[in-house]
Amino acid sequence: MSKEYETVIGLEVHVELNTKTKIFCGCSTAFGGEVNEHTCPVCTGMPGSLPVLNKEVVNKAIAVGLATNCDITRNCKFDRKNYFYPDNPQNYQISQLYYPICRNGYVEIETEEFGKKKVGIHEIHMEEDAGKLVHDEFMDCSLVDFNRSGVPLIEIVSEPDMRSAEEVIAYLDKLRLIIQYLGASDCKLNEGSMRADVNLSIREKGAAEFGTRTEMKNLNSFKAIARAIENEKERQIDIIESGEKVVQETRRWDDNKEYSYAMRSKEDAQDYRYFPDPDLVPIVIDDAWLERIKADQPELRDEKRIRYKDEFELPEYDIDIITGSKKMADLFEETIGKGANPKKVSNWLMVETMRLLKEHDMDADDISFSADNLAKLIALTDSKAINSSVAKEVFEHIFAENIDPDKYVEEHGLKTVNDEGALRETIIKIIADNPQSVADYKGGKEKAIGFLVGQTMKAMKGKAEPGMVNQILKEELAK
Ligand SMILES: [Zn+2]
Repeated sequence: MSKEYETVIGLEVHVELNTKTKIFCGCSTAFGGEVNEHTCPVCTGMPGSLPVLNKEVVNKAIAVGLATNCDITRNCKFDRKNYFYPDNPQNYQISQLYYPICRNGYVEIETEEFGKKKVGIHEIHMEEDAGKLVHDEFMDCSLVDFNRSGVPLIEIVSEPDMRSAEEVIAYLDKLRLIIQYLGASDCKLNEGSMRADVNLSIREKGAAEFGTRTEMKNLNSFKAIARAIENEKERQIDIIESGEKVVQETRRWDDNKEYSYAMRSKEDAQDYRYFPDPDLVPIVIDDAWLERIKADQPELRDEKRIRYKDEFELPEYDIDIITGSKKMADLFEETIGKGANPKKVSNWLMVETMRLLKEHDMDADDISFSADNLAKLIALTDSKAINSSVAKEVFEHIFAENIDPDKYVEEHGLKTVNDEGALRETIIKIIADNPQSVADYKGGKEKAIGFLVGQTMKAMKGKAEPGMVNQILKEELAK
């Protein structure tokens, strides 16, 4: 009989904080720019240069710690992690080993498979990013760009509490939303502002001891993470079933080929010879500092979900989608702020916006239209200045180019014709031109009126109000 196995997964998640300047110098963190444009003696590791801590990094790290239920370390320090690599000019990375800024937290996740569950956060520490090697095949050499060197990172280390790819995705999504709502990072896996390393081991179901784990790197999408987990789980089970032992090592996932390969066997922390950084003073976080950050914490997703239900009486499904992106939630609230009805705003987001996002293979963060223009469009439909099919057409232009709907409707002559005389004249002509449909209708085929409405709308170039067309048609047919 084959044995039953359990997958044990812990995550190390690196998040790039979106401060304006780097963690230990005044260089810009802006993405792009000329190679080595955003550098100075500190972030290129020149001898004699001294780091100065950017307080905003600490503020953001504390904000993330509070939002993930962590204890904040009131006296914390930076340590040097010593290693050589050409993208690391100091030959050490400034990180935190002994006194990380946040400890013992958790986030709550929910999956279909296991329901609600808390995933423990072992610690969150602050550190600096490294530079980037550019391999130039033409020149047959490697060059180094230090623009990213010294960009602030936090590393969020979970407890090994996850048991499936679904739980891992739920956990990452939860972290992503918390940090986005805090405005601490945009957390884009595909752009590297959020990176996840997966620690995975297998044990027999019910066993108390953990198996030997491997660490997988280079996972840059939720789909890649799910595939890598499934693959690694099978690989380890095969090894165990064949009577061999899993080797503790770092593996690199190749998502195109859908397999992983060994990079190096795992170093121990002592190999890095960590020691407290003598150039940086310890950080003392007093009550006033902590209180200030607590007072500034914005409303997070879970709180918004409850409020949207109470305040706007939206269905759970709508709330899930709207709050599933900070961008969408902000747009929703801003449009309501301009006087639009919440249910109507929700409908435009849920139906047309979601349809167009899907059609263009975009996600909610890519939305570029303004709340102002959506509110104007809703006002145009509320006042019956345009009918619903014209509104949909106008919305496509708002979505694509953020046009001003008032101007657009005016310029393209899309206003509903409210001139009853002109409409009645058209309808009389339609009735005269379609004797068969008129006879059908009068013979009891109620549906025949639909055809006549359609013909009238066509003759009016879509600019009539369907209710009014219906009413006048019935009046004229009754004559
Ligand atoms: Zn610098």
